[in-house]
Amino acid sequence: MVTMSDSAEPTVFTRIVAREIPADIVFENDTVVAFRDIKPQAPVHLLVVPKTERYRTVSELAAGDPALLAEVVATAKQLAVQHCGGEFRLVFNEGESAGQTVFHVHAHVLGADPGGALPEGSLGQ
Ligand code: AMP
Repeated sequence: MVTMSDSAEPTVFTRIVAREIPADIVFENDTVVAFRDIKPQAPVHLLVVPKTERYRTVSELAAGDPALLAEVVATAKQLAVQHCGGEFRLVFNEGESAGQTVFHVHAHVLGADPGGALPEGSLGQ
């Protein structure tokens, strides 16, 4: 399996985890960090990122550490309760053709404004 540790360059998310670059962090524990997407595509757009750089994609994470994937989902729910009434769209892009640009696994947590709704057929807007 190819992992980020095989790559010379750390991803932007690895650098956020290491506090080498700033982010608007909304949650952190020993294993995950969550912060606001720099280019939001919904009224609420958070990213939940495992701190380990071992897994590039959600499929790699599911195969390698399903408990950590479950923690990412539980964190998404907790954040949605705090930020958008507990309802949310959870998106993992896997691969360039699907829109993945950062190869450090992450979940997009997308939520609507109070009283609003996310449109169907789009990521969030
Ligand atoms: P993906 O296209 O699924 O790989 O998602 C990467 C996401 O990371 C995009 O929605 C970007 O807007 C977001 N992003 C990239 N750089 C940063 C950053 N420095 N801080 C917060 N979000 C970022």
